[in-house]
Amino acid sequence: MADPRIVIVGAGPAGTRAAEAFVRHGLRPVVIDEAQRSGGQIYRRQPPGFSRPAKAVYGFEAGRAEGVHGAFDALAGSIDHRPETLVWNIQAGAVHTAPAGGGAVGRVEYDALILATGACDRVIPFPGWTTAGVYTLGAAQIALKYQACAIGGRVVFMGTGPLLYLVAYQYAKAGAKVAAVLDTTTFATKLGALRRLLAVPQAFLKGLYYLGWLRRHGVAIHEGVTPVRAEGEQAVTAMVFRTARGQERRIECDAVGFGYGLQSETQLADLVGCSFVYEPHSRQWLPEADADGRSSVAGVYLAGDGRRVRGADFAEMAGELAALAVLHDVGRPAAGDRLAELRRGLDRGLRWGGALQAVFPVPHRFLGDLPAETVLCRCEGVTVGDARRAVDDLDAREINRAKALSRIGMGRCQGRYCGLSAATILAETAGADPSTAMRLRGQAPVKPIPLTQQEVPS
Ligand SMILES: Cc1cc2nc3c(=O)[nH]c(=O)nc-3n(C[C@H](O)[C@H](O)[C@H](O)COP(=O)(O)OP(=O)(O)OC[C@H]3O[C@@H](n4cnc5c(N)ncnc54)[C@H](O)[C@@H]3O)c2cc1C
Repeated sequence: MADPRIVIVGAGPAGTRAAEAFVRHGLRPVVIDEAQRSGGQIYRRQPPGFSRPAKAVYGFEAGRAEGVHGAFDALAGSIDHRPETLVWNIQAGAVHTAPAGGGAVGRVEYDALILATGACDRVIPFPGWTTAGVYTLGAAQIALKYQACAIGGRVVFMGTGPLLYLVAYQYAKAGAKVAAVLDTTTFATKLGALRRLLAVPQAFLKGLYYLGWLRRHGVAIHEGVTPVRAEGEQAVTAMVFRTARGQERRIECDAVGFGYGLQSETQLADLVGCSFVYEPHSRQWLPEADADGRSSVAGVYLAGDGRRVRGADFAEMAGELAALAVLHDVGRPAAGDRLAELRRGLDRGLRWGGALQAVFPVPHRFLGDLPAETVLCRCEGVTVGDARRAVDDLDAREINRAKALSRIGMGRCQGRYCGLSAATILAETAGADPSTAMRLRGQAPVKPIPLTQQEVPS
């Protein structure tokens, strides 16, 4: 029997370990990533010519980063790596690709496809969030990690989740002035979820370390805050927030980094026809898969944060497990011991993900109080008031209908940043359960590609 044609989308921790497993079993997968180099988000590599040591770029994760990079580099010659290549559509057993720098579009046919597309920042809008100088936490970290750039000289970090404290620590450590850390989660909420977090002691201790370090270095940390507005005409000049006791405070700054955890990148899973299931905590619809990563579509597998956000270590396990599932399904099963070990590992990942959600809940409640003029969909300039009117005046309670009538989520980012908030606003305005607003359907191209790159059917 001929070797199966295997395509992996994503060369992060999940994609790397999947590719490694295939090579170990004598197969040569195609690995496609829009990034210039492998590593994914957490282990993003510096551009060629940059040579900061791993410890300076990745901190505590330096060893793991070097492990994942080394594993990928060792596959050179044994895989077909296509960097700087966007998968913009999937149809009829083939992924459609577009090179980042322009040039010929292509199709790569597969018998088995692993989607290891990772995650992106979770955004909840607030007045002034589109002012120049306001970035997501992930973007702030990428600037630092990739090219050693800071987003500003006096930065406020705001939101919730482990990335909040990590990025503030990384900025302060790199010499930037961190004006304040504004955590939307109350101390009481964290304390209530402490027992669950203790189930993952390493992560807990790392979090405590960042917190302690920031306090020791004089960084002001406020818990239980509510964002009020980012001020500034041409660029941000201050962040105004309400403390847990309801007092309004203003902190001068020249940049804000904000975010509320991560959300899975699921557009490709949607385009290929996977069924989705609603996850009430995050209020995200996620592609369904069995314990090993088999989706509801034959030949399509899901791994890493693109399936469910569980962090890099678990993404590595999920990538290998998905590859073993493919091997099993094409009649080349791997040893049972390894399977059992990986499944146990991923079970721990589920507990870890659950603990994080309990300690750092997404503050959906902010959406109900947003002033009507707050920009919701920045690509199309749709406001919170427009979304509420879509329900009140046009009875558009389902998000795809609201998109058609108001242009929410119609722009460049395809609703990546506004879709989840928009769904909550629609449901709250209609007085319905958030799941009833459904999810924005994936549309090709998942990210913008030049018109000249569109494939013309022959
Ligand atoms: C901005 C950001 C910063 C983060 N920082 C940290 C951190 O400091 N510490 C931490 O513990 N965790 C961090 N995380 C979480 C961590 O990155 C993930 O848990 C981990 O990387 C998941 O691995 P993965 O392989 O599933 O996905 P990723 O590492 O995200 O890799 C996915 C890869 O898929 C590629 N891709 C996606 N869609 C396409 C497409 N359509 N076509 C081609 N390629 C595509 C991407 O370019 C990317 O390289 C961060 C996440 C983000 C989004």
